[in-house]
This record gives sequence, structure tokens and C-alpha cells, in this order.
Amino acid sequence: MAINFKRFFKRLEDINNLKNKSFEKININRIALTLDDKIARDKIIIWMKNLNLSIKIDNIGNIFGFYNFKKNTKPILLGSHIDTVRNAGRFDGSLGVIGALEVLEALIKKNVTNKPIGIAIFTNEEGVRFTPDMMGSWSFTKRENINKIYKIKDNNNITIKDALKKIKYLGKEKQLFFKPRMFLELHIEQGPILDIEKKNIGIVKGVQAITWLKVVLFGKSNHAGTTPMSNRRDPIKVFGEVSSYINSFKSDRKQQMITIGSLNIEPNQVNVIANKIEFTLDIRNPNDKKLVQFENNLNKKIKELCFANNIKYKVDKLVNFPSVKFDKKINKVIINKSKKLKYTYLELFSGAGHDAQMLANICPTSMIFVPSEKGISHDSKENTKKSDIKKGLNLLYNVTKELLKE
Ligand SMILES: [Zn+2]
Repeated sequence: MAINFKRFFKRLEDINNLKNKSFEKININRIALTLDDKIARDKIIIWMKNLNLSIKIDNIGNIFGFYNFKKNTKPILLGSHIDTVRNAGRFDGSLGVIGALEVLEALIKKNVTNKPIGIAIFTNEEGVRFTPDMMGSWSFTKRENINKIYKIKDNNNITIKDALKKIKYLGKEKQLFFKPRMFLELHIEQGPILDIEKKNIGIVKGVQAITWLKVVLFGKSNHAGTTPMSNRRDPIKVFGEVSSYINSFKSDRKQQMITIGSLNIEPNQVNVIANKIEFTLDIRNPNDKKLVQFENNLNKKIKELCFANNIKYKVDKLVNFPSVKFDKKINKVIINKSKKLKYTYLELFSGAGHDAQMLANICPTSMIFVPSEKGISHDSKENTKKSDIKKGLNLLYNVTKELLKE
């Protein structure tokens, strides 16, 4: 086999400081543009240089390592991110970066190709310290002006530009300084579907559409002991009915997702009927039309319930991102290679955001998922079986090799 798994796991252990640590003691806090991030970046650059890759750093600190890259050629790009959330696991992001490096090393050492190919490490995918998340790929694909991005600050009033300077990763290359031929990202699923369905590989059809709503219901406060039940304007009663309406849609796990994630009640006292309740809705669907349809039905339901209970209300849209579709041709190659390697697979939509969804705006893009045990992610208990990691890496190698033939 072309892939050197020992080298891959050694590097993963190295950037995550896992040496001699038991699984229970894993505690990774590689927040974007901190010293820990810098140390990991420096290590990977040394590995890239040992492979004679040409290193480019752009003006948001994204790192690129190229093999046989010349001006006006379009390389196939592989990659992900190495920043993490607090108390993170080992594989979120790192798998796609160290995995890309391993695939490239194997391709070079096996003399597979002379065509240009590159690795990308995108800055601040997690968005823990600086918002928004997916910042590096967002900037690289020119979704926002760089000078506007530079003004973004963390909680300590440090700008992203100063943070980049401090760790010496404010690079010279401009946004979109080259155009990839295609982009491929290997990542853990971060959800339970592959684990439940007992599949080795997830072939990602795209990222689902997302809408965030804030709903406020206005009622009237009054005494809990004296106000007749039939004569109340109680927003909590309406909230309860909205909640049960929403939860009646939760049966189909793969399609409509709705979450009430935050709730505020006023005055929030045991013996007072509430006068105001505020809650948020996170609505996701892989199909943009279905999401809008659901949102319209929900608005209608809220209106009806409020009218029936003499409640005033307000619905604000906080966020709305349309769905992203990944490249069908790349996915066909991934399916064919999975079949050939006898890996079980499933086509699915990503519930979480990824750098790949930004890259999909500029070139054919897709992702390969490996299972997350029990669907746990963004936690130190996040785990993927070694055998599944190996399959994901081997598949990435074989798919890249095939795509290089085109
Ligand atoms: Zn990630």
C-alpha cells in the first residue's frame, strides 16, 4: 500500500502532543492564531519543506504547499484546518491536513504524477476566537474584502491582522492568488449517521441550508392565583404549542432539522404569568425550497396560535445560508473507488459547516467523511476507529490519483 499509516499517525500524534497520553487525558486547545496554532503550523511547514513543496502563505495566514506548481496552472487542492475548539478531539481538521500531506508524499514517492497538486491549511475554521468561522477559506475565495476582515477583533480587542503578525503568519499572497482545479477535503462526520448505519465512508452531497430565527411572543403579566385560566394572555402557553408543532417534524433525521436552542422568559417568576418569551429556531434542510416551505408553514402556525390566544408577536431572521451542492463528477469517482476497495459507503449531506463549502464557490469540490463514534464531536471524546481512518486515507489517495489522470 502506498500510504504510510505509521508516518501519518506519528505526525498526528506530534502536532496534537499526544505522546504517552492516555485517551482520557487528551486535551487539545489549538485555538486559531495562538501560540499552539503557530507551533503546529511550524511543524507542518517543516514536513512540507522536507518534501520540497513550495510554500505560500496568503494575507489571512492560509498555508499552501505545492508540488510542481507554476503560474497559470491549476493544481488539485487537498486540505482542511488545524485550529480547534476548546477541549477538542484529535481528528477534526487535522485528519484532512495531515491526511493530505500523507497522500501527497505517497503520490510523489510513487512517481504517480507530474501534474500540479497542493495542500491547504485554512486559518480559523472553527471561529472560536474570531468570528465568522471558516474565515480562511471565506477570505481565500474572496467572499469578503480583506481590509474589512482585518478589522475583526477577538474578545481582548486584538485584531485578526495583529494576531497574524504576532505569530508571523501574515503572508504576502493575495486572496484567490491561484485558482484550484478542484478541492477535496477528508473530514470526520461529526454526526452519528455513519456510525448508526455501520458504513466506512460518507460521500458528501453538499452542506444543508440553514436559517436562524428569533421569535418574540408578547403577552400580559398577571397574578398566577387570581387570573382565570380562560382569561389569560400567556405567551408560554403559545410557546408550548409552537414547540410541540416543531417536534412533530423531527421524525425524519436526514431531512428537516429544527432546534429551539435559546429561551428567555420575562419576568421569569414562579407566581406571575409571563409577559414575554423570546426563543431562537435553528432550521436546516438540504433542500432550499423545502426549508422555505417549512418556514412559511411555521410562520402561519405561529400567527394562528397568537391570534387564538390574543398574543402579539415578532419573527426576525438572524441568518440565512442557502445549501451548497458538491460536485457530482468527483462524487462518482469516490463512489467507484469505494466499491473497488470494498468499503461500505453512504451518500449524505453535511450538518456542519466546512472549508469545502467556501471552495465550492470557485471550483468543483467535494468531501469524504469517516465515522465519528457515537456521533460525538467538538469534545475530547471525539473518536474514529483506526481502521476507518485508514480506509478514509486510502480512499483519498486512490480518488486523488484517479482525478490526476483527467
Ligand atoms: Zn473541522
